[in-house]
This record gives sequence, C-alpha cells and structure tokens, in this order.
Amino acid sequence: MRGTTIKLGLRSRLVIGGRYPRLNKHTSYFHLHLFPPPPWSAGQPQANIYLGRRAGRLASIIVSHYSSSRARHCGMTRSTGPEGLEPMPLVIVQGFLGNTGRWLWGDFERHLNRDLKSTPRRTIFVSVGPVSSLHDRACELYYSLLGGTVDYGEEHSTTHKHARYGRNIGLGQYPEWSPSRPLHFLGHSIGGPTIIKLQSLIKQGHFGPSAHPKMIVSVNAVSAPFRGTQAVYILGERPDAAPAVNPLSVGALVGKGVHILSFLSPLLPRVFDLHGDCRSLTYRDISVLSLLKQLWKSDWAESRDATPFDVTFQAADERELMGEGDVEPETFYQSHVARMTQRSRSDQFGAHTPSLRHIMSPFLYILSRLLCTFDYSNLQPPPSFLTQRAPARSVPDGDSIMGDEYWANDGVVPIFSQWHPLPCGRTRCRHFGPVAPELVEYTDNDYHRDRVTPRPGIWCVNWQEEDANHMSLLPLWTGTSRQRRFWEQLGRWLLAVDKAFVH
Ligand SMILES: [Zn+2]
Ligand SMILES: [Zn+2]
Repeated sequence: MRGTTIKLGLRSRLVIGGRYPRLNKHTSYFHLHLFPPPPWSAGQPQANIYLGRRAGRLASIIVSHYSSSRARHCGMTRSTGPEGLEPMPLVIVQGFLGNTGRWLWGDFERHLNRDLKSTPRRTIFVSVGPVSSLHDRACELYYSLLGGTVDYGEEHSTTHKHARYGRNIGLGQYPEWSPSRPLHFLGHSIGGPTIIKLQSLIKQGHFGPSAHPKMIVSVNAVSAPFRGTQAVYILGERPDAAPAVNPLSVGALVGKGVHILSFLSPLLPRVFDLHGDCRSLTYRDISVLSLLKQLWKSDWAESRDATPFDVTFQAADERELMGEGDVEPETFYQSHVARMTQRSRSDQFGAHTPSLRHIMSPFLYILSRLLCTFDYSNLQPPPSFLTQRAPARSVPDGDSIMGDEYWANDGVVPIFSQWHPLPCGRTRCRHFGPVAPELVEYTDNDYHRDRVTPRPGIWCVNWQEEDANHMSLLPLWTGTSRQRRFWEQLGRWLLAVDKAFVH
C-alpha cells in the first residue's frame, strides 16, 4: 500500500491511496491533515474518507488534476520524498506522560524551517502510550505511521499477559513510509529509547519482511535515558526488586492515577489517552472491585512491561545484552545532552550539586539533588557499568570513585545515559564539548565538519547544554534563545542528512 501526498496549500495536505489492504482491497482512501492541526486532534488526521474502487479512482483523478493545476499556479510542488523536492518529514516522539502534541511544543517549526521557507519540513506528532513499555510504544509508533491494527506480537503479549492486538488506527499518518521514503525521528526523554526499540524491532522482523531499519533515516534524541536512570528508584521502584514499587512513593501514586484515568478513559479527552486498549482497564471492561484490586497492586505499573521498569539500569542492561542499540550503518544518529549540575567546589572527586537558578523548578531541583547523591551500591542486580568497567578515577586512600558523568544530570537523567545506548567502547560515537574530559577527542573544526557533512552509523554526541534541565529544550516552548538555536541547528542538520541520503 502506498499513498501520495499532495499539498493543497500551506495549511492542508491530502494523502491519497488505493487498495488499502487493512480495510478492504478495493478501498481507496483520502486522508486530510490541517497544518497546524487543531489542538484536540493530537496529531491525528482531521478527516479520513474511504471510497469504493471506482469512486476512489475518479476522485483521485479530480484531486490530482486540481493539485497539479494549483501547483502550477502557486509554484507548489508535488511531494516526492527524498528523491524529490520536499524535505523528509520529522516524526516527534514524546516522553513519559507526554501526549500533548503541538499546543505544548509551540512555535518551533518557524525555527526548524528557517532555511526551508519555500518548502517547510512536515512534522508529525504521534500518540503512543505515555506510561507504556518501550516495546508497546514502539509498536504503537509503527502503526500510527503506517496505519492498521496495532500488533504487539504473539510472544510479547503471551509473556506479558495482555491482548496481542490493540486499537485500529485506520489510516496512518505516513502510509507511504518505506525504505525509499524514510523518516527522521526526534525523541524527547523516553521518546529516544522508543525510537531505538522501534529500529530494533524492525531489524528483528517483528513487523514483517517489508520493514527495514533504514526506514529510520535519522535518530535525534534530547535528554534520553538510553541506559536507565536512578530517578526511577528515587521515585519508588525497588532498587533490590524491580519492577516492584514501594507502596508509599510517588511512583505508586502515579500508578494509581494511571488506573483511575484508564478506568474513566472512554469519558475523557484524547490528551488523557493512556493507550491501555490491550489491557481492558476501562469501566466497560472491568468492575469497580477489579479497579480496587489494581489500585492495591497494579498488574501494569508493577510489571516488566511499563515505562518505570524500562528505565531501570537492569532493563537497560538486558536490552544491551540482546544487542539492542547497535548502530545501523545507514542511519544518522545524534544526541543532545543537558546538565543542570556543577561539581561541588568542596569536593574534588566528582560530587555534583544542581545550580541554584533551577530552584524555580522545585521538582527537578530536588530530584537532581537526589540523583547527585544516589547510592549505586544498593542496586540488585548491580548495573553493568559498576561491574564491567574500571572505575573512572582513584582517590588517594586507594578507594575508587565513579566519573562525573554518573552524577551530573539534567534533573531526571544522568549524562552518561543521555549520550547513546551501550558503553562508548561497544558502539561507534564521537563526543563533542565538555561531556566527559577523557572522552573529548574532537575539536571545534571536527564538530562543524560533522554538522555540514553528517556521517551515518555513528553517534554524534553534541556539545552539552550547560545549566539546562530536562525541560529546557523540550517539550514546553518558552521561546528562549536556547530553544530557538536548538531548532535552527536541528533544521540545518536534517537538511544536511537529506542531502547525504540523496547522494
Ligand atoms: Zn506489552
Ligand atoms: Zn560514546
């Protein structure tokens, strides 16, 4: 199934396709997007029109004619992807509890498209489970783009005791997605590992032989917990018995809120959509007594198939042992690292404290302080970075301590985890800027050359955002010079990748 995108104007776009197999082999479809979409649409198409074979063919001819004559009059072009004139679209994958879409992300497109005024890059917000596991989110991401019924896989659904099939998306947001029509991806926070999981599932053949890892032309991550974060233990996950959650903790409270929202979800607006379809948790599926049982001990929040467990060091180690996170030779990778802490003047051995200016974000400030003083030795099983590598530094009394990268953080994620999946020695990476002094091998000139001519199959870990917290770049748009610069640089880099892909 392939669709053709036709731009009708700056604010609308029509996707036309034929023989949509998941609906009916004789069904044609029209799929209308408005740009920017209304806030209630959460990135979904604003209209889906399905037609029979003959009516669909006739309507396609009329719209194609309308579009081409309009293109001639307005100087617009038919979208043909990387081989043509329109830049490859950017898919945005939001983080934990993030399902807001454009109304929170704001006016970033003006800066993203600073160098692309005549043909702006299309951005696609996808709605995936805001508290779901990486596996479930990746499956929902795939079908959100291509359309059809979400299939979590037989083995996964049996292991984790939920239905194999989720919701029927209908028509996806980019039905033409394929190795020759790839997409850029940007993930904030857990959106980053979600994209890596998607690429890994594609590689494993989870979505069938037509899917190929090079359908993801670039991965762009901001403050992503690729290798886990100690924040999840501070918020309630048991350090010695994950995925169990301490009953009197923030995490337990969030888990209860998730169940109450899921129970009421048929009555709630889409922004509260928790994608719990495959778990049958609404008042239509379960009794109040069953809800109370879930509030006492959650089968979802306290399972290995939910976001909290997936951001533990244990889960990250398990993924890495399976080879997840290996770079694909044809994909371009970059990460953006944020840090809101500084090394304490009184402690020369790596202790960090958050900068006082972040006290205006009290939750992040307090969490950051706790991340800085976290006791890694309580973790069971011990994380691989404690057992498999030599400690970064030694102190005079013979003890050893870990490097700054395990303490410096953005209020949610330590910086070593924001770099990329896998340890530096087990992947291909280039670090720029003062990320960790022993890793900086590259100069200003190298950095600028990489920006102009990006290289595939290697992580480009960008200059660290100093004095920046987990929310400074994304998702809340406040129009700061840091945010404007980020989007402009991202726009330029994506354009350079577009060119590298074509050549
Ligand atoms: Zn699942
Ligand atoms: Zn590295």
